[in-house]
Parts: sequence; structure tokens; C-alpha cells
Amino acid sequence: MTTETSDALTDPLAREIRRRRTFAIISHPDAGKTTLTEKLLLFSGAIQIAGSVKARKASRHATSDWMEIEKQRGISVASSVMQMEYGDCVINLLDTPGHQDFSEDTYRVLTAVDAALMVIDAANGVEPQTRRLLQVCRARNTPILTFINKMDREVKDPLALMDEIEQELGMTVVPFTWPVGMGKVFRGVMDLRADQMRLFAPGEDRVGGDEETLHGLQDPAHAERFGAPFEQALGEMELVRDAAPAFDHAEFLSGRQTPMFFGSAINNFGVREVLDALVELAPPPGARTAIERTVEPDEAKFSGVVFKVQANMDPAHRDRIAFVRVSSGKFTRGMRLKVVRNGKEMRPQTVVSFLSQRRELVDEAVAGDIIGIPNHGVLQLGDTLTEGEALHYTGLPFFAPESFRTVEIKDPLRSKQLRQGLQQLGEEGAIQVFNPVSGGSLMLGAIGQLQFEVVLHRLKSEYGVDARLDPCRFTLARWITCADEAKLKRFIESEPLRIAYDVVGAPAFLVQYSSDLRVTQERVPDIQFHAMREHS
Ligand code: GDP
Repeated sequence: MTTETSDALTDPLAREIRRRRTFAIISHPDAGKTTLTEKLLLFSGAIQIAGSVKARKASRHATSDWMEIEKQRGISVASSVMQMEYGDCVINLLDTPGHQDFSEDTYRVLTAVDAALMVIDAANGVEPQTRRLLQVCRARNTPILTFINKMDREVKDPLALMDEIEQELGMTVVPFTWPVGMGKVFRGVMDLRADQMRLFAPGEDRVGGDEETLHGLQDPAHAERFGAPFEQALGEMELVRDAAPAFDHAEFLSGRQTPMFFGSAINNFGVREVLDALVELAPPPGARTAIERTVEPDEAKFSGVVFKVQANMDPAHRDRIAFVRVSSGKFTRGMRLKVVRNGKEMRPQTVVSFLSQRRELVDEAVAGDIIGIPNHGVLQLGDTLTEGEALHYTGLPFFAPESFRTVEIKDPLRSKQLRQGLQQLGEEGAIQVFNPVSGGSLMLGAIGQLQFEVVLHRLKSEYGVDARLDPCRFTLARWITCADEAKLKRFIESEPLRIAYDVVGAPAFLVQYSSDLRVTQERVPDIQFHAMREHS
């Protein structure tokens, strides 16, 4: 045994960190994320939060109703990070916005987790939003567990589903359980690692783990009791055992293998197995990469990174909550922190954690935990906080917008407020703001249409600005960089009408047609064009 390992066993900080499991659920809308979240909370004893998950859900479909969006924003602060204890572990479950128009926010949340639980609706298989989210996880080699939900319905054939996931998502699927029947004849799941089957009974009363379990699957009495679906499942399981590779923990940790479970979240069936697997298989917080060096989670000094900024609900108070993933060490209330970007010091006293439904004052948090720091704009997306060391964590993604508008205001006397509002909304990541090199109207870029509507609404309610959005000729943006600063400068000067600076001053090249981009790329091969900007 190496010294490092024995240190990890004796050092209380290292021990605390090793108990952490920080993850998010990824899925296409309606696959069952909300239901599963509720059940996970229920099983871990944090029952009262379940209500807030529902409340958020209730407003999700009413996205055109502004009161609803505001309400949703309020609720989502409370439920955006849920911490619960399960067994020996402390689980941090990070919520991701359900609506795909806000998916950029989700991508950034995924940078703060150590694992993801992918929920798939067994009737629909792999859906677009799942595919997109999974790509983000794959890019970071995030380990993924798969839960096939809604087995109590008429769904796709499990072998076909397994094949679909492998083909579409490019991962090896290793089933841990296998379904016996589906829909009206869903009888339960066989366990591929033990010679047993857990029987399905509909209903939400049980909290799992107390289902009837049959042992010795070859016993003819079972085949007789359950008939054809049982025989079929046995046959399929043999097939799967022969065809699928054995589970390999290292392959799972590098995002190449995903353990797969079948169940029905609404019936509390199969949920406990996933929770147990999560605790057992998902990794504790690992090392994180900063520009300067690799940082181990159990280093004594605190460091963390802002991955999400959420504005306060009350327009009279311009404060925001910065969500910080603790990357190393321990945060203690009142400790002195340095914002590495600008060297500013802060000593946050009212840091919140998200244990249970209430936002509670946090006294301590360790690597893997998420803390919320209220501030007035000192903290921005991607900021690194340390006890003094100049560390810059990288990798927080911003994606090139897919639609654009120019902003005009009705009352020119409010243009200062407009700029201020857009600067803040841009820093929060609610929208991307582009300031053309040539001057002229500010432009907004979004991934989803709903982002524009939210910005118009918030400009009015929070900044008193009546703005109008007009169509804009641009359809595509690429951030530009060049190893040679002088060349980049010359290129920017040569393209005053097509280059604009974003909210952190990074230059972007905007075009009307993708062919314009290709032509330009050929003309200036030294300039790099990026569809994604990583905060650095
Ligand atoms: P989300 O959009 O991914 O958060 O999905 P929800 O958790 O809201 O679930 C979408 C719908 O599927 C709701 O009507 C749920 O009641 C239903 N649902 C969730 N899990 C199951 C399940 O195991 N079986 C069935 N039949 N319906 C389910």
C-alpha cells in the first residue's frame, strides 16, 4: 500500500471527501428525471424536498407565462443543488434545466459533476436531448450510469434498446439487471450478477428493497409461475452474458462502459439498485486541472470554481448567487478568499448550502460539495476562488449561439441601463452579448429562442428598460484566436463589420452564411475559429 493511500485513510479531510458523490441526471424531457429525483430524495430520507421538485415541474410547461418563469427561477435556486446522505455517502445531486432552450446552462452544470445518471424512456429509446447531453459528458469522460425507465409500459425490446444505446452513444452497455416482460406483464428484473429475480409490484408505497426476491432462476417452478416472459428473459440474459463484456470499473470511470438498470421510477422499482450502484461505482471527487497545475481534492488549501450564476429574484436587490464547486480542500465560513481573475478578496459570511429544502448557512464544505455565495457581481462564470494561490481552472464551456437579434431601446435615455443590464445578464450566462467592433447596436446571441424572451422580460422588470429585438443578418458566430497576437489584431481591423466582442471581451467572427465562414477560413489559415469557448 502506498503512503498516499494510507494518508487517505487516516486524514479526516481526505476521508470526508471520499464520502462525496456529486452527480447530475441527464435525460430528454418527460423521460422521468423529476420522478427519479423525487425517489432518490425519498430513499435517502430527504423527503420534504420532493415537494419542491414537483413545484418546479408544475411550472415547466407554462414557459410563456412570465409569472411562472419567475416562480420557476425562485424554486430552482432552492432545488438546483440537493444534498443528501445515503449509507456512508454524502450525495450532491445537481439539477439541470429541463427546457432545451436553456441547455447551455446544463452543459456548464455538467462540468461540476463527477458522474451522471442517464434516464431513458424505454418506449422512446435515445432521444435528441439525451444525445446532446451525453456528448458533453463524453467530451469530459464523465462516468455514466443508465436507468431504463417506464418498464411498466409497452416499450421497446430490451435487446434492441441496448443495441440502440451502444450504437447511438458509442458506449459499451453492461446490463446489471434484465427485465422480465413489460407493460401489463412486467414481472420484475433478473439480477445478472446474482442468481435471483426481484418481483415487480406496482405502487408508490414501498421504498424499495423489500420486494419479493426469488432465488435459483433455473428452478422450473419459476418458469411455470411466470410463463413465456420468464423463459424469454432467461434466454436473453444468456445471450447478453455471452455477448457483453464483463463490467470493468476502469472502463466505466473513463466513460466507455455504462452499467444499465431497468425499472419504473414512478413505482419505486429499480431505483434503490441505481442509488446503491451510484454510491458503489461512481467516483469520489478527483483531481482537477488548472492552467498552472493539477490540483488534488484533498490538498489542505481551498479552491473552487464558479459554474453557475443565478440572479436574485428581487429586482430591488441586484445580488446574485454564484454556485461554486469546491475543487480542493475545505471551505469554512468567514474564510478569506481570493478571486483569481482580478485579485479581489472576499470573506463570504452568508454562504449557503443546499441541504434539504431550505437554503441553509454553511459552516463547512469539502471538495465535491457545492456552495452558493451571494455577491453583487464580483463573481463571474468560470471564476476560480482560492486562499491566495494563482490558479485558473479551465473548461467551463460557452457555445457559439445559433440565433441572433439586435437590441434597440424605445427611450434612448435608458441606454446606460440597457448596457448595464445586458452586461449583467451576459455575465450570468442568460444570453450572449456581442458588441460590434464598428460600434452600432448591441447584438444578442442565443442557443434557444426562449432565452431572448427571458432577456426582454428581465430587462424590463429588473432594469426598467423597454427594449425591442430586431432580426439580425448573422446566423453563425465563431470565436477567433491566433498564436500571433499581431495577426489577430490585423484580422480584427480588417473585418470591422463582422467582428464583435463578447461580454468578457473575447472577439468573435459573425457571418450570414456558413459559406462565408469557409471562404474566410481559407483566406486566413492562421486564425482559429471556435464553436465553443472555454473559460480560461
Ligand atoms: P422529466 O420531464 O424527465 O422530469 O419527467 P417526469 O419525471 O416529469 O415524468 C414524465 C411523465 O412520465 C410523468 O407523467 C410521470 O408520471 C411519468 N413517469 C415517470 N416514471 C414513470 C414510470 O416508471 N412509468 C410510467 N408509466 N410513467 C412514468
